[in-house]
Amino acid sequence: MAREGFEEVIALHDARSGLRAFLAIHDSSAGPAFGGIRRWAYEDEDQALRDSLRLARAMTYKCALAELSAGGAKMVVLDRPTLDVPAGYRAIGDFAERLGGRWYTGPDVGTGEAEMRSVAARTRYATDPGPEGPGQLAEATVEGVFRGIEAALVHLDGQADWPRRTAVVQGLGEVGAGLAKRLVEHGARVRASDLDAERAVDVSRQLGIELVDPATEFDQACDVFAPCALGGILHDLTIARLRCRIVAGGANNVLARSAHGERLHERGILFAPDFVLNAGALVRGALFHLEGRREPIDAIGRRIGATAARILERAREDGASPARVAIDEAEDRLAARRARRG
Ligand code: NAD
Repeated sequence: MAREGFEEVIALHDARSGLRAFLAIHDSSAGPAFGGIRRWAYEDEDQALRDSLRLARAMTYKCALAELSAGGAKMVVLDRPTLDVPAGYRAIGDFAERLGGRWYTGPDVGTGEAEMRSVAARTRYATDPGPEGPGQLAEATVEGVFRGIEAALVHLDGQADWPRRTAVVQGLGEVGAGLAKRLVEHGARVRASDLDAERAVDVSRQLGIELVDPATEFDQACDVFAPCALGGILHDLTIARLRCRIVAGGANNVLARSAHGERLHERGILFAPDFVLNAGALVRGALFHLEGRREPIDAIGRRIGATAARILERAREDGASPARVAIDEAEDRLAARRARRG
């Protein structure tokens, strides 16, 4: 916590529902901390706690680079057969309400509409999935990722030139399927994979895209490899296999360690940092809660595309990796606002 500048980590235990969870609040120096609820079958509390810390810090970077008056947090829930899911999420809602607006929450892996309805029934500080809420969070993420990929192509070649591009999308969940659709609409050739074979076949039929075996997703020759599944997938072994020019996608914390941003750079692969590209849902949710407005999706996409273009340009000027430049810029902004606060 001290090394990464964390403010607070709270362990939750609700005997009635069997809920065991951690809330990591990384930074609230610029405003309330925003972060969704991830429910996962973590092996133990240590693994869950580490995940909450990594994800919360990434949320702070997202907020800083998206120039939001907000900071980063993340709740992780240990998914266990003994957990009464609706009651557990209601307990989370009561807890958010008790925090009184210090933490705003929304969906994440393992937390969908049904779970968010349970949370939002108990607190004002959660994304309501119904008509009262900000709406279209995943669509905002997709648009940001799409515009970020476009910025990366323009950065390398001066134009997006979609009909001549091949993209490989890893994961066809909410973000991956939406991104694949957007790419197809623009004429790109899309190949994709999903560990859930039924889902993969459904989406590929709907979009008319080619499927690849998940075991070969890193080996595909393509312009863009778009990770839209889980984090930590790029490490020494997988980076050595990549045959793409650009890595740009929606998955959080796609690099196993930040040094892997340098590995990609050394291999001549342009990495558009995930926390720049996948901030769309956060931007939409934060502006809704903080300013009471539903920011149009295309405006969010343009904003993220412009930030990505600026980071990539600065990386080129400095001869540094985009991952390093994005982290440094986020840290500088954080330091400045902490200094202003005194
Ligand atoms: P999701 O659960 O709907 O989809 C993820 C999909 O990836 C699943 O279908 C799963 O079967 C598949 N998958 C997992 N490992 C795989 C692998 N190795 N190869 C191929 N497929 C694999 O999740 P989502 O909402 O689409 O989010 C995807 C990623 O984007 C996550 O990392 C999430 O944290 C991040 N993200 C999502 C949003 C959002 O608005 N939904 C916002 C920011 C970041």
